[in-house]
Amino acid sequence: MAENSTETLSLDEVRALANSVLVTAGMNPAGSDLIADIVTKSERDGPRSHGLRMLPVYAQSFTSGYANPSASPTIERIAPGVLRADGDNGYYQIAAAAARAELVAMTHEQGIAAFTCANCHHLAGLRFDTEPLAEAGLVAFAVVNSLSMVVPQGGVRPVFGTNPMSFACPRVGKQPVVWDQASSMVALMDIRMAAAEGHDLPRPAGLDTEGQPSVDPNAILETRSLLPFGEHKGAAIAFLIEVMGAALSGGTLSVDNADREAHGALNIKGGNTLIAIDPKRFGNTGFDDYVARICAEIEGNGDARVPGDGRLRNRAASEANGVSVSAELLAQLRGLQ
Ligand code: NDP
Repeated sequence: MAENSTETLSLDEVRALANSVLVTAGMNPAGSDLIADIVTKSERDGPRSHGLRMLPVYAQSFTSGYANPSASPTIERIAPGVLRADGDNGYYQIAAAAARAELVAMTHEQGIAAFTCANCHHLAGLRFDTEPLAEAGLVAFAVVNSLSMVVPQGGVRPVFGTNPMSFACPRVGKQPVVWDQASSMVALMDIRMAAAEGHDLPRPAGLDTEGQPSVDPNAILETRSLLPFGEHKGAAIAFLIEVMGAALSGGTLSVDNADREAHGALNIKGGNTLIAIDPKRFGNTGFDDYVARICAEIEGNGDARVPGDGRLRNRAASEANGVSVSAELLAQLRGLQ
């Protein structure tokens, strides 16, 4: 096999491959359909770091017994605006899919409602949690805390996970606006890639062994201490997510997830919160015009683009041409089928 050889897969082939790896790892068909859909959409829309290359991690979490492949979440409306789930140690998306219709109905009824879930795993992009709600006409905001890797501003050891958040809102005549980002300056995967390719990072993204901000990916991988985006502002957002993700749901704090490799699985059991808002119940009948106006101001502004719209460009290209997958990764995945 040539070192950098690749193979082009259609999205249907990506879905079938993902499904078969997950079923072999023990997932029931309903669960594997859901997770394979997220893997396929990650490959389709990018960033592809959370697509096929996550499958060995998912498989390992099931075969090691760390995560439950046939989870049956329990969901309870514990307050007029709060739907709470216990994920039965499975993947968050299984619980979220089971709760979605009720969350949408509650949001239409009350103007705002929240879904929160603990005892579950989340490793994927968060936009797949918010986008379906925006497609149903709602504004959505999702957070999940993860595994401690991000140092608070001025600190010397990690407290927060790379704690991502996603926001989505409907946009008349177009796909919803959906953005999705981590709280760290640079994703761990990007640091690993820079180390593998033998170059420095464009700006300091973590601490070296002396506790100093560093552009050296190997030094950062040694400490596993990443910097938040935007200095103290990003650290404050990571704090917010730790509280809204873990503290509200009763999920595991990022500092307490630090031993997850002891389970023989690369997995993270934080806490998830998803807030849904019905803009039609908030009193401004011009909501759609406001969103259109904000987007128009960005689109006509030099090279700026509405955050998250890169996914729509990627989506069109992958639907037309399929996706290119490294032969090395494909060989690994075929070995797990
Ligand atoms: P990126 O920095 O790649 O992108 C962040 C967001 O900004 C995206 O919505 C992206 O959408 C948008 N964007 C990027 N460039 C521009 C631009 N020039 N103008 C406007 N918008 C832009 O994401 P991260 O590295 O921070 O996160 C990667 C993924 O990892 C996310 O999906 C996140 O949810 C996931 N993650 C999951 C974790 C978990 O525990 N489950 C933990 C940490 C991260 P687009 O490029 O499509 O426009």
